Amino acid sequence: MTVKDIFETMDYGPAPESAAPALEWLVDMGDRFGCFIDGKFTDPGETFEAKNPATGNVLAHVTQATQADVDAAVAAARKAQAKWAKDGHKRARALYAIARLLQKHARLFAVLETLDNGKPIRESRDIDIPLAARHFYYHAGMAELMEEELPDQEPVGVCGQVVPWNFPLLMLAWKIAPALAMGNTTVLKPAEYTSLTALLFADICRQAGLPKGVVNIVTGDGAVGEMLTAAKVDKIAFTGSTAVGRRIREATAGSGKALTLELGGKSPYIVFEDADIDSAIEGLVDAIWFNQGEVCCAGSRLLVQEGIAPRFYDKLRARMDKLRVGDPLDKAIDVGALVDPVQLRTITDMVEGSNGDIHRAPGPLPTQGCYYPPTLITGLSPADRLMQEEIFGPVLVSTTFRTPTEAVELANNTRYGLAASLWTENLNLALDIAPKLAAGVVWINATNLFDAAAGFGGVRESGFGREGGWEGLMAYTRPKGSSRPLREIAPYTTDDGDPIPPLDRTAKLYVGGKQARPDGGYSRPVHTRTGKLLGHASLANRKDIRNAVEAMNAARGWSRTTGHLRAQILYYIAENLSAREDEFAARINHLTGGRSGDKEVVQAIRTLFRWAAWADKHDHRAKPVPMRGTALAMNEPLGNIGVLCDDARPLMGLIEPVAPAIALGNRVTAVASAPYPLAATDFYQVLETSDLPAGVVNILTGDHAELAPHMAAHAGLDAVWSFSSSDLSAEIEHASAATLKRTWVNNSRTRDWPTATWLAQSTEVKTIWIPYGE
Ligand code: NDP
Repeated sequence: MTVKDIFETMDYGPAPESAAPALEWLVDMGDRFGCFIDGKFTDPGETFEAKNPATGNVLAHVTQATQADVDAAVAAARKAQAKWAKDGHKRARALYAIARLLQKHARLFAVLETLDNGKPIRESRDIDIPLAARHFYYHAGMAELMEEELPDQEPVGVCGQVVPWNFPLLMLAWKIAPALAMGNTTVLKPAEYTSLTALLFADICRQAGLPKGVVNIVTGDGAVGEMLTAAKVDKIAFTGSTAVGRRIREATAGSGKALTLELGGKSPYIVFEDADIDSAIEGLVDAIWFNQGEVCCAGSRLLVQEGIAPRFYDKLRARMDKLRVGDPLDKAIDVGALVDPVQLRTITDMVEGSNGDIHRAPGPLPTQGCYYPPTLITGLSPADRLMQEEIFGPVLVSTTFRTPTEAVELANNTRYGLAASLWTENLNLALDIAPKLAAGVVWINATNLFDAAAGFGGVRESGFGREGGWEGLMAYTRPKGSSRPLREIAPYTTDDGDPIPPLDRTAKLYVGGKQARPDGGYSRPVHTRTGKLLGHASLANRKDIRNAVEAMNAARGWSRTTGHLRAQILYYIAENLSAREDEFAARINHLTGGRSGDKEVVQAIRTLFRWAAWADKHDHRAKPVPMRGTALAMNEPLGNIGVLCDDARPLMGLIEPVAPAIALGNRVTAVASAPYPLAATDFYQVLETSDLPAGVVNILTGDHAELAPHMAAHAGLDAVWSFSSSDLSAEIEHASAATLKRTWVNNSRTRDWPTATWLAQSTEVKTIWIPYGE
């Protein structure tokens, strides 16, 4: 080809990156890998092939870890943990050394990642590896600051971490860097398709002089992941599909293991008619064709405002038709190879089953390897399978909307809630829409921005927990202090037939601001310790929970009120409780047979004051992300929370969880102490006179064990907390897998939780990225 030819065609010339250094490293390592346990590689066992999806060539042989390997890795991590946790500065130095080594070997990592995964070298070189190094730098700082900034937190212990194949090294960095910074040790399982950069990372750990046992890598398929989740670890951190996340939730239920899940998504990409269309098109190329669309937060669901839709689609088709699909090691390639023929088949089948209008980019595809063309499907209805299910490939589905309200409705019409992009030149509109989107991350006039300082994670079936930022450290620490075993409390049952005057009353339920009879029509007598009849308490059932959820939904406005207003109402509740201090104290003493009723009421009033104080002080943060712009970390309420109250304290058991939950904007349905329900039912009258909007707090009475599974499985509850003395933690966590709601259970133990825990449990961090400039 002559220079003249090049000027005439303006075609790309080949720009190949050499695979040689990565292939040499594989040869140096013997092309066969064992696991990395206790600071060294084990001898390879039974192996499977690691293949290059762009060519089908075998790159290396990787060990399928056995139960003995997993046990040895966990034991090594356990042995190393206490010493590793001791010195934050030493940890900072180690993490810094890893970051430096990642940078030093950046090209080797990038080429190896591209060979193993099929992603374009442009992306592994410019995105995956630099972001992984940044994560270690950032968390080197966190290790240094832990003692000073998080003096009341301690490491969780040994972490089991399972990562997927779409960002193999980056996901490893997101897991390992914060875990190590906070003094934990780890056993990580990479995905079967993409183990090689994790093994190179293990080599880097050796070079960095990381103490043995601090990082362990066990390779293999899902069975190894299952072994790891069942192992004696203190925490599981998982990124992958919602289906496997659900299985892990069920498998770990009741084990006491901490859990974070970063799962799938079907993230909306919303384009308003006043958007800068060319920028929005470029953004879309990145949103759905970056990494072949194998991105959990891919902007895979395009919503375009009707007025600009025809023009937008024309421009989009013209742009996608120019995307170059091909050899991932070519630096001028836009879209590389899919990770495996299995993934190619899944995507092909999903698209072929669609009845929408399918447009595939016409550009030539390589004749061998796992390639799929950039694809746009229009004309789908919101309920179509492809509008709802994650395709995890370079396939964009689309529909139109007319008004901003409709855009929000369509955007939220999914079981997922990972990310969202919105495009408009009207900042008022953007900042109005961003808080209304059910997503953990929102990008305004941008997409796929990530940084170690900014939290990432989802809501709904996209999982729970955040990675990155201060909020990400919550997943790798726990509050210092010990817990005590809980004793189940039985209600007093002996009846001497002598009611306490003046009258035997049956306390109703409190739902939607009104006293309501229980759906089942049953109640039970409540006695004093000496057997006198105090009254009757209603027995709520599944339908009463349903009614309470409806009442909470009708009270959504509470979550949009100001912290100042919420504080005023909490103070007012405290004031009204204070006016009836003696009456409540006497009631508590009658119920429990104790004498500390007055102390409990004083404590309840203090608790209400404390959370009134916090209502307008849980500051949001603006994150110093490395770009011209900011990322806001907004502390949003979870929504509807179901609480099983502490049985031992008739009034405090109710106030302790309800006050922080409503102070931070949630609506609550609380099931009162099962043996001592009548202080909570007296409390209605306090609420009724305190200007609390109907439905914000609903109070049920009844059997915790009967109500817990219904609460845990109810799709309308966003979280369930259990402080009950009944042993319900396993059942709640297991049933919560259906909706993947957040749970906070006591595992039959009790302790005093610090403010930071209540704040974190009552809120969800939404990261809103706002780039500056024209
Ligand atoms: P999986 O969820 O199956 O895999 C993620 C990780 O979990 C891998 O390391 C996998 O091992 C491991 N694993 C599999 N089964 C279990 C188990 N029972 N217990 C513990 N760990 C397990 O995702 P896939 O990689 O198979 O991809 C399937 C689909 O998941 C994709 O098409 C996509 O829709 C979605 N996905 C979503 C991701 C996200 O970031 N949200 C990331 C990756 C996939 P191994 O791979 O070795 O089998």
